[in-house]
Amino acid sequence: MLAIRGGGHNIAGNAMCDDGIVIDLSQMKAASVNPNTRRAIIEGGATLADLDAATQTHGLATPVGINSTTGIAGLTLGGGFGWLSRKYGMTVDNLESAEVVTATGEVVRASATEHPDLFWALRGGGNFGVVTRFEFRLHPVGPDVLSGLIVYPISEAKSVLQQYRKFIAEAPEELSVWTVLRQAPPLPFLPESMHGKAIIALALIYAGDPKQGESLIEPLRKFGTPVGEHVGVQPYVAWQQTFDPLLTVGARNYWKSHNLSTLKDGLFDVIIEYIGKIPSPQCEIFFGAIGGATTRPAPDSTAYAHRDAKFVMNVHDRWEDPADDKRCIGWVRDFFVASAPFASGGVYVNFLTADEGDRVRSAYGPNYDRLAQVKRKYDPDNLFSVNQNIAPA
Ligand SMILES: Cc1cc2nc3c(=O)[nH]c(=O)nc-3n(C[C@H](O)[C@H](O)[C@H](O)COP(=O)(O)OP(=O)(O)OC[C@H]3O[C@@H](n4cnc5c(N)ncnc54)[C@H](O)[C@@H]3O)c2cc1C
Repeated sequence: MLAIRGGGHNIAGNAMCDDGIVIDLSQMKAASVNPNTRRAIIEGGATLADLDAATQTHGLATPVGINSTTGIAGLTLGGGFGWLSRKYGMTVDNLESAEVVTATGEVVRASATEHPDLFWALRGGGNFGVVTRFEFRLHPVGPDVLSGLIVYPISEAKSVLQQYRKFIAEAPEELSVWTVLRQAPPLPFLPESMHGKAIIALALIYAGDPKQGESLIEPLRKFGTPVGEHVGVQPYVAWQQTFDPLLTVGARNYWKSHNLSTLKDGLFDVIIEYIGKIPSPQCEIFFGAIGGATTRPAPDSTAYAHRDAKFVMNVHDRWEDPADDKRCIGWVRDFFVASAPFASGGVYVNFLTADEGDRVRSAYGPNYDRLAQVKRKYDPDNLFSVNQNIAPA
């Protein structure tokens, strides 16, 4: 058994294995940026924080996820999306090349012109080797961005969600707004009376001139009567780290996910019902808004196939006591089933858990068979199997 550990962040636990060997890349974090060509080269054990720190020195960035402790490797190999994706696409849409150690121990460079079949497969498929270096295209972002949170009480959630649906469909791609439903943490900008109460938060970033962003976000404040707001101009790297404190070390985690191409009223009712019976204070249901640039490439242009997805919905439960496992996992599974009729059918491979082998095909979508062919060429004996596995054709 052989596992590969990048950032060690994946909830399926595939960075580790029992009775086997772990190739741990976490000491390989070096990054170099060429501001003239707008390219970054970063090693396979780096986190998003390492990448952002290197690129933001030059006022540049590429779209990655929303917790800076996530590994760049696992995130990229599954597709990768975050606050900049509406404007600049999936992380894989910005991948220029990768250095890969294959199952035979050969070191190869994969790009549009070198091992193009492998390069196609790596952009959403993982599974094919140990990636030791990634080369990304970069875009001008920040260093300061308008970003923050606007919070409404759960009693206004349905109306907020309906207005959000219309707003995000018309918003410029520089503006990204995600919705999060959960119990309010004890944040200083929220009144004490709201701490521990169910809320819906709009998390926003405008990746252009902050002054232009101000007027664009104004309608978000008028969806109802906010109970608190914390929005301002701050360094992009600070916004990228805003949600890190929620990820306390040692917590137990379970999640499930659906891709969505539209947001239906019936889904809003299901979400509000389940937030009403939330099993622990750290649970949340969120919609990550993608769309825009993520939908423009053809579904077979990269292994990441879900170009129809406009939102990635995730129900993420976190708790401390193993005695609560059954209750907390049960809540996630029940919500997953209740929300399934509103989903588009696909799922983001990086949001699968360890027990979802039956969903691996829908995670790779129509690209599965081609991925299995590439797997047969580069890893016929399935050496790299501790992942959302593609069986060699
Ligand atoms: C709280 C939280 C928030 C998240 N938010 C986002 C988000 O906003 N956007 C998003 O796109 N994703 C998000 N994710 C999902 C994230 O992209 C995945 O969990 C990803 O797999 C993490 O990468 P890692 O390198 O840290 O993972 P690891 O746990 O180290 O590895 C995950 C998988 O990738 C393989 N792998 C790791 N490194 C390498 C390598 N160098 N070469 C080859 N294979 C490798 C591993 O073998 C394993 O199968 C989030 C996850 C969490 C827990």
